[in-house]
Amino acid sequence: MKILVAVKRVVDYNVKVRVKSDNTAVDTANVKMSMNPFDEIAIEEAVRLKEKGVATEIIAVSCGVTQCTETLRTAMAIGADRAILVETSEELQPLAVAKLLKALVDKEQPGLIILGKQAIDDDCNQTGQMLAALADLPQVAFASKVDIADGKATVSREIDGGSETLSVTLPAVVTADLRLNEPRYVTLPNIMKAKKKPMEVLKPEDLGVDVTPRIKTLKVNEPPKRSAGVKVPDVATLVAKLKTEAKVI
Ligand code: AMP
Repeated sequence: MKILVAVKRVVDYNVKVRVKSDNTAVDTANVKMSMNPFDEIAIEEAVRLKEKGVATEIIAVSCGVTQCTETLRTAMAIGADRAILVETSEELQPLAVAKLLKALVDKEQPGLIILGKQAIDDDCNQTGQMLAALADLPQVAFASKVDIADGKATVSREIDGGSETLSVTLPAVVTADLRLNEPRYVTLPNIMKAKKKPMEVLKPEDLGVDVTPRIKTLKVNEPPKRSAGVKVPDVATLVAKLKTEAKVI
């Protein structure tokens, strides 16, 4: 069984993002970029399924600028066998990515498609769901455990107040939540090996997909600065302030 995993290049989660002075977008110039953390979990899960003998090949896909090849090399250092870059300098929104992935699903016919539950730059949480709809495949979002047997995936997902377990027939789309696994560290020998693994580069036109943005960002603002707190001498003063000033009790 082939597994297709979508990996997005995003601003590294340790970076404190800054908004451009004209308030049009987040400033990504000279900012460290990395693989979206949920996509690392997605790749790790695919590699574990291959190690268990469930999967035979893992294909990592990234859509975006040329530098996404770095993200794909990381995916291959974790354990993906080959990579596909859909190269474009156009701003890509979830629907466009879902259409590109759908075209690759048609081409590659994977038994399982794993995405991150959400990209930490746009926080959309849409691509997996849109892909499942476009490809007419069953989906389980926010997976915290995945078992594959007899052409079916049994997937647990965390929900309010507990966990839900669903069974879907393959091929299916699964999106990875934080607790699905803890991704392994990338080792130097594996980074070296990844350099020799195959990487195919396609353009959206090769897949017959129009990626023109449908949504226009009107304005991006920094969150308001937190005002300074005050120290209160005792509980009675705290309760009084909560009643009279904050008016929350
Ligand atoms: P989003 O819907 O933007 O929150 O993204 C959810 C997931 O879709 C991510 O965790 C990735 O697995 C995948 N994804 C989104 N954008 C891209 C992209 N440009 N290239 C590859 N995968 C992507």
